[in-house]
Amino acid sequence: PDTITIQELANRMAERAVDVIKLLMQQGQMMKINDVIDADTAELIVAEMGHTPKRVSESDVEEGLVGQADRDEDLKPRAPVVTVMGHVDHGKTSLLDAIRKAKVVQGEAGGITQHIGAYQAQAPNGETITFIDTPGHAAFTSMRARGAKVTDIVILVVAADDGVMPQTIEAINHARAAGVPMIVAVNKIDKPDADPNRVRNDLLRYEVVTEAMGGDTQEVQVSALKHIGLDELLEAIQLQSEVLELKANPNRSAEGVLVEAQLDKGRGPVGTVLVQRGTLRVGDIVVAGAEWGKVRALINDKGENVKEAGPSTPVEVLGLNGTPEAGDLLAVVDSEARAREIADYRQRKRRERLQARGAGSRTTLEQMMS
Ligand code: GDP
Ligand code: MG
Repeated sequence: PDTITIQELANRMAERAVDVIKLLMQQGQMMKINDVIDADTAELIVAEMGHTPKRVSESDVEEGLVGQADRDEDLKPRAPVVTVMGHVDHGKTSLLDAIRKAKVVQGEAGGITQHIGAYQAQAPNGETITFIDTPGHAAFTSMRARGAKVTDIVILVVAADDGVMPQTIEAINHARAAGVPMIVAVNKIDKPDADPNRVRNDLLRYEVVTEAMGGDTQEVQVSALKHIGLDELLEAIQLQSEVLELKANPNRSAEGVLVEAQLDKGRGPVGTVLVQRGTLRVGDIVVAGAEWGKVRALINDKGENVKEAGPSTPVEVLGLNGTPEAGDLLAVVDSEARAREIADYRQRKRRERLQARGAGSRTTLEQMMS
């Protein structure tokens, strides 16, 4: 249910909080400035104080912002988005680096590709694969907790000399919970004590049955260090992607998820956005989490300025007025006024949540009962 703090309610009416508290007291409710009241109570108070209550609910503000369904005929194939997971030191970073080095087509500028939190590589058949460059379960879970489904395929990296370890199991559970298919990359096969069979057998205990064991989970033997098996891994991803029939509508206002965000000294707030639907363009007005802005520039994973970015494309977005958080959703809106309204609303919500959390047991009890 919608709630509001007394302070915030007073602010919106341009009344003093103490007067709101007095009124509540007359009605037998002892409250403090940071306590929250429900929307019905707030409405009564607003009316009592001679204002016209206008409820602004989540659905009013955010309606039409996300979640509009696309028609089937508008959907076009899109590149798969891949995340690498696995136990620490099993070679996640090395594998991402190896693919980046070997399989990324250099941009016009040539030289080194930028680290923008995601990149695109080319499979042997020429098709594009998007890799999220932040290995780590934390990022994955926090994004999922915010309702962002970021990845289509999980590469489960298991070191052939070490086998299944606690974070391997964690990764399996994450992928399962998210309903995302896995491809097992048995890494470090260059090592003399590499034992892929042990990995396969270990995995069986967690009901991951690889093809070699008669199941349907693809398994590829790789060495991130020696660049062995990279083509095979990309082919496996391509194959899995075909099965998934991944599609999105590129011809609509863009929606995406923030893969990374930081405040850059020279450039201001910079967010790496993975576009999920529609096409993001320079000049678009966007809301990103509780921030908004007008897209000043888009920079791709090769460090090139681009005018637009379609589904499954990662781009750096410049022009935000504040720094959003990784996992926040980004959406294009019609006008600055609308962007401001949504961002204000979300910032208010966030403040209220924080205040409610800090307001002590009384509030907690009320919240539990409301
Ligand atoms: P992460 O913690 O999963 O990101 O693992 P890293 O990529 O940081 O790798 C951990 C260690 O394993 C590093 O010392 C790497 O050089 C090494 N390593 C990664 N891949 C391979 C491989 O294919 N073969 C060998 N021999 N060592 C590897
Ligand atoms: Mg690492």
